Amino acid sequence: MAVAECIFCKIVAGSEECHELYRDETTLAFMDIHPANEGHCLVIPRAHFATVFEMPPQSFAAVAATVAKLARAVNETLRPGGLSLLQANGEIAGQTVPHVHVHVLPRRAGDNLPINWDRNRVGDPVHADAVHLAALARRIRARLE
Ligand code: 5GP
Ligand code: ZN
Repeated sequence: MAVAECIFCKIVAGSEECHELYRDETTLAFMDIHPANEGHCLVIPRAHFATVFEMPPQSFAAVAATVAKLARAVNETLRPGGLSLLQANGEIAGQTVPHVHVHVLPRRAGDNLPINWDRNRVGDPVHADAVHLAALARRIRARLE
Protein backbone atom coordinates (compact mmCIF):
# COMPACT_ATOMS: atom_id res chain seq x y z
CA MET A 1 0.00 0.00 0.00
CA ALA A 2 1.26 3.49 -0.89
CA VAL A 3 1.90 5.69 2.11
CA ALA A 4 -0.45 8.30 0.57
CA GLU A 5 -3.34 5.81 0.88
CA CYS A 6 -2.57 4.73 4.43
CA ILE A 7 -5.32 5.82 6.83
CA PHE A 8 -2.93 6.11 9.77
CA CYS A 9 -0.48 8.22 7.72
CA LYS A 10 -3.46 10.48 6.91
CA ILE A 11 -4.19 10.77 10.63
CA VAL A 12 -0.53 11.66 11.27
CA ALA A 13 -0.67 14.28 8.49
CA GLY A 14 -3.92 15.73 9.89
CA SER A 15 -5.93 15.09 6.71
CA GLU A 16 -8.10 12.53 8.60
CA GLU A 17 -9.57 13.31 11.99
CA CYS A 18 -8.99 11.37 15.17
CA HIS A 19 -9.56 11.79 18.88
CA GLU A 20 -5.92 12.47 19.67
CA LEU A 21 -4.56 11.52 23.07
CA TYR A 22 -0.83 12.15 22.87
CA ARG A 23 1.92 12.93 20.41
CA ASP A 24 5.66 13.32 20.54
CA GLU A 25 8.37 13.53 17.88
CA THR A 26 7.98 9.95 16.68
CA THR A 27 4.69 8.54 18.01
CA LEU A 28 0.98 9.32 18.11
CA ALA A 29 -1.85 7.92 20.26
CA PHE A 30 -5.58 8.22 19.54
CA MET A 31 -8.93 6.55 20.24
CA ASP A 32 -9.84 3.54 18.10
CA ILE A 33 -12.77 4.44 15.83
CA HIS A 34 -14.44 1.02 16.37
CA PRO A 35 -13.58 0.23 19.98
CA ALA A 36 -13.58 -3.43 20.97
CA ASN A 37 -14.09 -2.22 24.53
CA GLU A 38 -14.62 1.12 26.29
CA GLY A 39 -11.25 2.94 26.30
CA HIS A 40 -9.74 1.02 23.35
CA CYS A 41 -6.99 3.20 21.87
CA LEU A 42 -4.02 2.87 19.54
CA VAL A 43 -0.37 3.91 19.54
CA ILE A 44 1.47 4.25 16.22
CA PRO A 45 4.85 5.37 14.95
CA ARG A 46 4.45 8.61 12.98
CA ALA A 47 6.61 7.12 10.23
CA HIS A 48 5.03 4.44 8.06
CA PHE A 49 6.08 0.85 8.72
CA ALA A 50 3.68 -1.86 7.53
CA THR A 51 4.76 -4.39 10.15
CA VAL A 52 7.21 -4.69 13.01
CA PHE A 53 9.49 -6.71 10.72
CA GLU A 54 10.39 -3.57 8.73
CA MET A 55 10.82 -1.40 11.79
CA PRO A 56 14.15 -0.62 13.49
CA PRO A 57 13.95 -1.89 17.10
CA GLN A 58 14.61 1.62 18.44
CA SER A 59 11.52 2.91 16.59
CA PHE A 60 9.46 0.19 18.22
CA ALA A 61 11.02 1.11 21.56
CA ALA A 62 9.69 4.66 21.13
CA VAL A 63 6.21 3.27 20.45
CA ALA A 64 6.54 1.04 23.52
CA ALA A 65 7.42 4.04 25.69
CA THR A 66 4.24 5.82 24.58
CA VAL A 67 2.24 2.62 25.12
CA ALA A 68 3.49 2.43 28.70
CA LYS A 69 2.46 6.07 29.37
CA LEU A 70 -0.93 5.60 27.76
CA ALA A 71 -1.66 2.28 29.47
CA ARG A 72 -1.09 3.95 32.82
CA ALA A 73 -3.32 6.94 31.92
CA VAL A 74 -6.13 4.71 30.60
CA ASN A 75 -5.89 2.49 33.65
CA GLU A 76 -6.09 5.47 36.00
CA THR A 77 -8.99 6.99 34.03
CA LEU A 78 -11.18 3.91 33.74
CA ARG A 79 -9.96 1.53 36.46
CA PRO A 80 -11.08 -1.36 34.27
CA GLY A 81 -9.56 -4.13 36.38
CA GLY A 82 -7.07 -5.25 33.71
CA LEU A 83 -5.56 -4.08 30.44
CA SER A 84 -4.23 -6.00 27.42
CA LEU A 85 -1.69 -4.78 24.86
CA LEU A 86 -1.97 -6.29 21.40
CA GLN A 87 -0.01 -5.79 18.17
CA ALA A 88 -0.76 -7.75 14.97
CA ASN A 89 1.55 -8.33 12.00
CA GLY A 90 -0.02 -9.68 8.83
CA GLU A 91 -3.60 -10.60 7.94
CA ILE A 92 -3.21 -14.06 9.49
CA ALA A 93 -2.49 -12.34 12.81
CA GLY A 94 -5.59 -10.16 12.40
CA GLN A 95 -3.91 -7.01 11.06
CA THR A 96 -6.36 -4.92 9.02
CA VAL A 97 -4.46 -1.60 8.86
CA PRO A 98 -0.95 -2.04 7.39
CA HIS A 99 0.70 0.65 9.55
CA VAL A 100 2.20 -0.63 12.81
CA HIS A 101 -0.03 -0.03 15.81
CA VAL A 102 -0.37 -1.30 19.36
CA HIS A 103 -3.87 -1.77 20.74
CA VAL A 104 -4.39 -0.63 24.33
CA LEU A 105 -7.40 -2.60 25.54
CA PRO A 106 -8.95 -2.07 28.95
CA ARG A 107 -10.24 -5.42 30.22
CA ARG A 108 -13.24 -6.10 32.39
CA ALA A 109 -14.55 -9.27 33.92
CA GLY A 110 -16.66 -11.19 31.43
CA ASP A 111 -15.82 -8.98 28.44
CA ASN A 112 -15.03 -12.13 26.46
CA LEU A 113 -12.58 -10.41 24.10
CA PRO A 114 -11.37 -13.33 21.99
CA ILE A 115 -7.69 -13.02 22.94
CA ASN A 116 -7.87 -15.09 26.12
CA TRP A 117 -6.73 -18.58 25.22
CA ASP A 118 -6.56 -21.14 27.99
CA ARG A 119 -3.09 -20.71 29.56
CA ASN A 120 -3.58 -23.94 31.49
CA ARG A 121 -4.41 -26.17 28.56
CA VAL A 122 -2.31 -29.28 28.21
CA GLY A 123 0.27 -28.62 25.49
CA ASP A 124 -0.05 -30.47 22.22
CA PRO A 125 2.29 -33.47 22.06
CA VAL A 126 4.49 -32.12 19.25
CA HIS A 127 4.91 -28.38 19.90
CA ALA A 128 5.08 -28.66 23.69
CA ASP A 129 7.62 -31.49 23.55
CA ALA A 130 10.81 -30.50 25.42
CA VAL A 131 13.11 -31.68 22.61
CA HIS A 132 11.11 -29.71 20.08
CA LEU A 133 11.14 -26.60 22.32
CA ALA A 134 14.91 -26.82 22.79
CA ALA A 135 15.53 -27.23 19.03
CA LEU A 136 13.25 -24.32 18.20
CA ALA A 137 14.90 -22.11 20.83
CA ARG A 138 18.30 -22.90 19.23
CA ARG A 139 17.00 -21.85 15.79
CA ILE A 140 15.60 -18.55 17.11
CA ARG A 141 18.76 -17.78 19.13
CA ALA A 142 20.81 -18.26 15.95
CA ARG A 143 18.76 -15.49 14.28
CA LEU A 144 19.39 -13.17 17.21
CA GLU A 145 23.17 -13.45 17.01
P1 5GP B 1 -5.82 -4.21 13.33
O1 5GP B 1 -7.04 -4.95 12.88
O2 5GP B 1 -4.97 -3.84 12.15
O3 5GP B 1 -5.05 -4.88 14.42
O4 5GP B 1 -6.37 -2.87 14.00
C1 5GP B 1 -6.75 -1.77 13.25
C2 5GP B 1 -7.57 -0.89 14.16
O5 5GP B 1 -7.67 0.39 13.57
C3 5GP B 1 -9.02 -1.40 14.36
O6 5GP B 1 -9.27 -1.60 15.74
C4 5GP B 1 -9.87 -0.30 13.75
O7 5GP B 1 -11.06 -0.08 14.47
C5 5GP B 1 -8.95 0.91 13.80
N1 5GP B 1 -9.19 1.88 12.74
C6 5GP B 1 -9.33 1.60 11.42
N2 5GP B 1 -9.52 2.75 10.73
C7 5GP B 1 -9.47 3.75 11.64
C8 5GP B 1 -9.61 5.17 11.54
O8 5GP B 1 -9.81 5.74 10.46
N3 5GP B 1 -9.49 5.88 12.69
C9 5GP B 1 -9.28 5.30 13.90
N4 5GP B 1 -9.20 6.08 14.98
N5 5GP B 1 -9.15 3.96 14.03
C10 5GP B 1 -9.25 3.20 12.92
ZN1 ZN C 1 0.99 4.60 7.19
